[in-house]
Amino acid sequence: IFDAQDVDGDEKELRAPICCILGHVDAGKTKLLDCIRGTHVQEREAGGITQQIGATYIPENIRDRTSLKAETAIKVPGLLVIDTPGHESFSKMRSRGLSMCDIAVVVVDITQGLEKQTIESLHLLRRHNVSFIVALNKVDRLYGWKECTNAPIVEALKKQSDDVKSEYKWRLTKVVTEFKENGFNTAPYYENNKKKKVVNIVPTSAESGEGVPDLLLLLVRWLPGIITDKLAYDDTVECTVLEVNEHKDLGTTVDVVLINGVLHQGDQVIVCTKQGPVTTIIRDLLTPHPMKELKAKGAYKHHKEVRAAQGVKIVARGLQYTMAGTSLIVVKPGDDLRQAEAAAMQEIDMAISTTDENEKGTTTQEVSSIVTSKEGIYVQASSVGTLEAIIAHLKSSSVDIPVYAWNLGPVYKQDVMKASAMLKRKEEYAVILAFDVKVMPEASALAAESGLKIITADTVYRLVNIYTEHIKGLKEAKKMQFAAEAVFPCTLKILPNRVYHSKDPIVCDVEVVEGVVKVGTPICVFTQSKDKSKNIIVHSLGRISSMQTSNGNQIFSARNGVVAIKISGDSPQEKSRSYGRHFDSSNELVSEISRRSIDVLKECFRDEMSAENWQLITRLKTQFKIA
Ligand code: GDP
Repeated sequence: IFDAQDVDGDEKELRAPICCILGHVDAGKTKLLDCIRGTHVQEREAGGITQQIGATYIPENIRDRTSLKAETAIKVPGLLVIDTPGHESFSKMRSRGLSMCDIAVVVVDITQGLEKQTIESLHLLRRHNVSFIVALNKVDRLYGWKECTNAPIVEALKKQSDDVKSEYKWRLTKVVTEFKENGFNTAPYYENNKKKKVVNIVPTSAESGEGVPDLLLLLVRWLPGIITDKLAYDDTVECTVLEVNEHKDLGTTVDVVLINGVLHQGDQVIVCTKQGPVTTIIRDLLTPHPMKELKAKGAYKHHKEVRAAQGVKIVARGLQYTMAGTSLIVVKPGDDLRQAEAAAMQEIDMAISTTDENEKGTTTQEVSSIVTSKEGIYVQASSVGTLEAIIAHLKSSSVDIPVYAWNLGPVYKQDVMKASAMLKRKEEYAVILAFDVKVMPEASALAAESGLKIITADTVYRLVNIYTEHIKGLKEAKKMQFAAEAVFPCTLKILPNRVYHSKDPIVCDVEVVEGVVKVGTPICVFTQSKDKSKNIIVHSLGRISSMQTSNGNQIFSARNGVVAIKISGDSPQEKSRSYGRHFDSSNELVSEISRRSIDVLKECFRDEMSAENWQLITRLKTQFKIA
């Protein structure tokens, strides 16, 4: 499968290739990564969703998994895998992860073929000019698949029945066609004679491990052979910020990918912030233990120096406003600090202009800078990446929830005070959405006292769901509070021979002509004064105290048909009105609306009002002479 010409004989020192995993939600990215490193992040993740960019360093013992013979040299010291989240709101982070990758693995579910985010990933790969391998995952889902744990795929395929083989073949062909439709030539790698030109497909199962050795082999042996120049180790530091995090013991830290060179404790570095370059000193360099994820919580290893390629957490002062996706610049002794800062400035300008560009051409919800509004909710998260994800999700949710302000790190009293501004303006926005951060006790106490709601949850989606449920609850509570003041519009026709009681309470059958009639609605009639002026006079009759259908069932509202209503007067005047004397069947019964009742409908009952109902309100407004 791997002929000599595939692998360059050059003796250059190589760094670990940086690899990115992309694909549609549920294609099996996390599971595949788990399978590669033999951990179980997928099961541990809240809601099974990858929340942050993680970087996993897979050291050279990878050999054990590739079925390579001991004498075959692997020239790279390991493999650094950036695991990017697959959900739509994370597209910004995907693009950030990609820009530093040497290669990508696009995971496709063999039972689903190419899906929306697979295609989006292909566009990104093309835009960033990154080569990729396709992991055609979940082969074990083929009906009748015989499990061959961790076997190379060709061996596993040989063991399958003819039925499985033929299903595999047509699904493979379908996927190859779909890639073709998107402008990529692909072939199963074991039949691919033009590996440099035609994209390799590796059938895999993240469940039972078939094909995983093949995938690793392509990544650590075939790939470095063809991109040796790109992988040549270089002392010049090249380092990109993935994430800014608030750590409860360490303060603000940044997760970076060191693409080339060495970082030391005590190095003077410059980070890019929107306010300009910030110069600081590296206090500590932390890495997760090998085969563990950078983002997995737990003990870190401290380092005096770290050599590329590696994912590193940097501890230093002044990192709060670092922009994810920008470079971290090292100032060596003797370097001109001003020059270095000027370089950082350029980097900042570029970051801002590329994000602008991205925004223009977006097909998905890419959030590059966080847009705040005068009225909106307060969002607080542990990192810029998650903050962006939450905000993108808020935007894409059906209600488009605006953001008033945001902050990183624990929720303090000051945050509650700031967010409380909404209590006076718009109650539904008087909320802090806090994701993966501590809420300080004095902040909770102040919030409880002032009526501000703090919502916390363990996934972005749950966070936003709880918020939307909270809004629903508020709306219902408001409806209850103002129900007595809301008057839905209706006009009713009295059926002449069916007036059962002509004076308080008036009981008669009516036909609902327009609008909606409800128990509680105040009813009136218009009559013309008998004097010269012929003025229109409004006579209030009282409120509908009960309502029945023709077969005697109690109801609370009706939109059409004939119903029996009982109108009970409140004031002595209302009680004195009687059918036959003050009004008769030639008078329409009308719900008695007012400026206030219309405002209440607008404020709390919009969702129960139809367009026709609003039209009726407009007409009645003229009749009642409401401005
Ligand atoms: P991601 O959203 O792409 O990271 O997908 P996950 O890794 O979370 O996998 C989604 C679901 O598919 C989980 O229930 C996995 O257990 C399952 N899954 C992933 N890969 C495989 C596979 O190769 N075979 C089978 N049978 N299930 C898989």
